[in-house]
Amino acid sequence: MATVLDVKEFPLFIGGKWTPAQSGETFDVINPATGQLAARVAKAGVDDVNAAVAAARKAFDSGMWSKQAPESRAAMLMLFAQKIMENANELVYLEAISSGGTVRRVGFSDILQIGDLLQQTAKFIQEYKYVEYLPIPPFPGPANGQVWREPFGVCAAVTPWNFPMILAMWKVVPALAMGNTIVVKPASNTPLSTLKLAELASQAGIPAGVFNVVAGPGASAGEALVTHPDVDKVAFTGSTEVGRRIMQLAAGSVKKVSLELGGKSPSIILPDADLDIAIPGALFGVFLHSGQICESGTRLFVHESMYDSVIDRLVEKAKDIRLGDPLSHNTGMGPVVSKQQFDTVMNYIEIGKQEGARVVCGGKPAMVEGYEGGYFIEPTIFADVTNDMRIAQEEIFGPVLVVIKYKDVAEAIRLANDTIYGLAAGVWTRDTNEAYRIARELRAGTVWINDWHMLRADAPFGGYKQSGFGRELGRHALDEYTQVKHVHASLLPEVEKRTWLGILFG
Ligand code: NDP
Repeated sequence: MATVLDVKEFPLFIGGKWTPAQSGETFDVINPATGQLAARVAKAGVDDVNAAVAAARKAFDSGMWSKQAPESRAAMLMLFAQKIMENANELVYLEAISSGGTVRRVGFSDILQIGDLLQQTAKFIQEYKYVEYLPIPPFPGPANGQVWREPFGVCAAVTPWNFPMILAMWKVVPALAMGNTIVVKPASNTPLSTLKLAELASQAGIPAGVFNVVAGPGASAGEALVTHPDVDKVAFTGSTEVGRRIMQLAAGSVKKVSLELGGKSPSIILPDADLDIAIPGALFGVFLHSGQICESGTRLFVHESMYDSVIDRLVEKAKDIRLGDPLSHNTGMGPVVSKQQFDTVMNYIEIGKQEGARVVCGGKPAMVEGYEGGYFIEPTIFADVTNDMRIAQEEIFGPVLVVIKYKDVAEAIRLANDTIYGLAAGVWTRDTNEAYRIARELRAGTVWINDWHMLRADAPFGGYKQSGFGRELGRHALDEYTQVKHVHASLLPEVEKRTWLGILFG
């Protein structure tokens, strides 16, 4: 039976305080497992966004955060990590009742990844090269040259609903670590955990105004934020379509932008692959979080010699995925995030059938007893797919795997790269040399060999092609949140030796 939840109200988090929307308006957050109200959240309008940016600007300009020594910011990040661990149960619950992420995943993986990200970043910022000393040049005259890395100022983050906590923290942590302040606009389906994180940051002692959250519609609150003249940098994760729009909007005031967008990642099984690893691995690659992951391995390329047997094994193994309430520890796969996403995914399943692909597994809404109002979809596998079909080219963002036959490795690589996206790719083989050779050919920001979804706090993540640009995670993410200043100090006190002055004078 569906659990009856307490409906909680969440204000916005601005300047270190819970703050109602100036209009007094709220919006509903729906639990995708039940279709029922999970929480009510203050709906930010332009005035609230302005207030949040003003708070972030004031905090930045005061220097109370940006001018702290890295060691002291690192200590704060560690306290923040501690607060997150102390409140992990609540965060996991909020994530599950809004995003449909299972407690098995959010509790076992997401929370630990966030803790690890904070710890690794705290370490990185103490080793970071904030100043680079240049050699003294012989020409045109001696000078001390330094290259400084400085924070941008006020950052804006617009985040999606699939991994609300993780994807907010991939922006908040490097931004704060490098001395910036931030305003986050979470997705309207899933603002709860991000609001809670801002409160925890404040409780950890991170100064008021450094981390603000304004929940509200992308088209109004989101646009107000990314066009705000006091915002210096915009980081976005979401659809390629909205990413394009954000890039255009940010161009108005020439803001630095980083975009992490869609994907249609290819997963290639070579004939020599260990299928005991590749079969569950490929299914994990696509069905984790009901396929709502930008780097999901949604296109599976299988050699023609083993195509039918691989399909049989995929279908057999997919039966081990248990659908149910994300709050239950027995559940491996929850619902998709919303009615809208449910309709989108079901529509793609219809498109696949019309294109002539063959449903070999699932293909229907899943019936979960006691959760009839939820947005559950069966793990779905299509065979007889060609790479030019819409189901092989467009991001479905649901539990749908397409399996494509190839004749030789060269064809597999060509088809794998035949997409507008380039977020991730993978290859399953026992031949390590061949795996690295293929990895070099794949046009994607991450390549997995005999694995999937393995992201690390010390490795960069981001896209090639229309999957976006800029990198999150790792030391590379710290560079994204700094700008570079060259400082030149002359070592030439004698005016007569400043020969270049003669270019103008006399
Ligand atoms: P969107 O790209 O629309 O939403 C992502 C974020 O952008 C949300 O916070 C949204 O706010 C905000 N937003 C929307 N429009 C604007 C705008 N004009 N200006 C500023 N911010 C805006 O994703 P959807 O929720 O519509 O999902 C659609 C598809 O996007 C999915 O099916 C999937 O293919 C892809 N997607 C990719 C993700 C990824 O990780 N790369 C994550 C999520 C989706 P609000 O929620 O209020 O609309």
